[in-house]
Amino acid sequence: MRPFRYEHVVDRDQALRAGAGANASYLAGGTTLVDLMKLDVLRPERVVDINALSADHGQIRAGADGLYLGALARMAQAAGHPAVRRDYPVIAQSLELAASPQIRNMASLGGNVLQKTRCPYYRDVSWNACNKRVPGSGCAAIGGVNRRLAVLGTSASCIANYPGDFAVALAALGATVDIEGPGGRRVVAIEDLHRLPGEAPHLETSLAPGDLITGFAVPAGPWTRNSLYLKVRDRQSYEFALASAAVAVDLDGKTVRQARIGLGGVATRPWRAHAAEAALQGKPLDEATARAAAEAAFDGAVSHGGNAFKVELGRRTLVRALLQASALEA
Ligand code: SF4
Repeated sequence: MRPFRYEHVVDRDQALRAGAGANASYLAGGTTLVDLMKLDVLRPERVVDINALSADHGQIRAGADGLYLGALARMAQAAGHPAVRRDYPVIAQSLELAASPQIRNMASLGGNVLQKTRCPYYRDVSWNACNKRVPGSGCAAIGGVNRRLAVLGTSASCIANYPGDFAVALAALGATVDIEGPGGRRVVAIEDLHRLPGEAPHLETSLAPGDLITGFAVPAGPWTRNSLYLKVRDRQSYEFALASAAVAVDLDGKTVRQARIGLGGVATRPWRAHAAEAALQGKPLDEATARAAAEAAFDGAVSHGGNAFKVELGRRTLVRALLQASALEA
């Protein structure tokens, strides 16, 4: 690990001043940042410890208008919160399935949504060709080992998949992200937090230097209780998704009033499947309509040999999740 300067800040203003400095990274749980510093992938010169801000930004509140999750709340804290478990099960499940208990106790929600791809060429600095790690260097995964990588939202520059689960649930539920930074406060849709790779995959989010995520607002809706997160992976514990689906449905009998769908493991960012949602609206939620929605969700998918199986796996994962959600309502 390279030398760096550690700074402990005690309030928001201090944090924003320190975070806006050149080549600084915020530190909360450290479960992503420290790993990648050890691997020499991330090389911050200053690490700004923001854990003292937990009193202001670590709270969880649930009310008639929705759910608010402070960015410094820990994954385990949110997953175990009674209102989250009862009224937003897709969020609780996405967090419980995301990591080991030890990591869930350490990792913050804000850090979780910003976790980095597991593309092997990104994480191994002995590979030269990785546009995300070294802009303009090429992409070793296209034509290389890409079994785990994305089929939605890719570009000719990068096919890395977004590896997280929690942000997929947030995308399905239309959450917004509260951000404070040198430019003031702002709110962005979770769908707009992560960027598509395009020609600049090293620019991963819409955050500016020094921006600090302070929380997530999840709007209330008749679909949030009838929700679930289905994660398909190589092994059933401590593993990233090959394909996942976050679904929330509001049903009138068996007919879909509205559906909310997020996809994970298969896309370059937390993926809201708007076309699939539209395909379900006003239809009976049976296997045929679920399949039609899944076809719509993966319309335009692009694979690269080793990850071709993910297109059909992703469709089947969504079909199964929708049918399970249908049974929840009954
Ligand atoms: Fe790098 Fe993206 Fe290519 Fe992986 S897929 S090697 S992260 S540019």
